[in-house]
Amino acid sequence: MNDLLSHLKQHLPQGLWFLEQMVSMESPSFDKPLVDKFVSFLGRQFNDIGGAVEFIPSEKFGNHLLVRFQGNARGRILLLGHTDTVWPTGEIEKRPFKIAGGRALGPGVFDMKAGILLMWMAVDALKKVRGSLSRPVTVLLTSDEEVGSNSSRALIEAEASQCTAVLVLEPSLPNGVLKTARKGIGRFTLKAIGKAAHAGIDPLKGINAIEEISRQIIKLQKMTDVARGTTVTVGIVQGGTRSNVVPAEAAAEIDLRITSIEEADRITKAIKALTPELAGARLEVRGSINRPPMERTSETARLFETARKVAA
Ligand SMILES: [Zn+2]
Repeated sequence: MNDLLSHLKQHLPQGLWFLEQMVSMESPSFDKPLVDKFVSFLGRQFNDIGGAVEFIPSEKFGNHLLVRFQGNARGRILLLGHTDTVWPTGEIEKRPFKIAGGRALGPGVFDMKAGILLMWMAVDALKKVRGSLSRPVTVLLTSDEEVGSNSSRALIEAEASQCTAVLVLEPSLPNGVLKTARKGIGRFTLKAIGKAAHAGIDPLKGINAIEEISRQIIKLQKMTDVARGTTVTVGIVQGGTRSNVVPAEAAAEIDLRITSIEEADRITKAIKALTPELAGARLEVRGSINRPPMERTSETARLFETARKVAA
């Protein structure tokens, strides 16, 4: 371990130079030409340390970068990250890269160009100090993480499912805390359909969709189960056209957070099984789980322990 550490220390200036290059080349999610340029630069850097580089084209966003390194044993490791940042083009003029008080500063240093640097330095150091990697390594850098990963999701799933372990080199939480679990998110819209009628002339002929959605909202809010880590939040309500008309339509937008796939299925079923309270009213549900939960398994805990020992 000590020979690795001294190698890394010795190569820190070279690493910081690479980091400065990365930060100075801006890569906002929606600027495909800039991200593509940054990704080709990275491709050359990973090629220089012996990686087989592949660019996966993306129409709307920058190209994704896939790099494979050979290893001695079986059990491929995926190093996962992203090349895009939330910073707009030109931010670098306002806040150029600098090192002050032992910290590197600049747009995208933290999230996550320093993470890309760590991938590159770790692979390079292991190969130079040990002669080869003990396991094959894939580096996958996607270009649309900050805007939902829609164009890279299938690629991430395909690569991750072939690997023994996936290490996401996103910035840590304060004090170096790593995430070994994460809640999943679901988004649903519940629509109530009633019947319009004039509130003065024939109010009894109407079916009030706002009353219907109100009753459903109370049922939805009650699905929150703190002990299981499940929260159901109605965040937006819409309905009605005029105060003197019994409203024919109303809708509620629902945010769901869950810690397990099992719980995701249970609540999704419960939302879809809601039935109207008012005679003649109808309900329509749209939506689904859009980020599945990352459950903390015993394998994840074991991997974390290994990482902690190595880090120490
Ligand atoms: Zn990030």
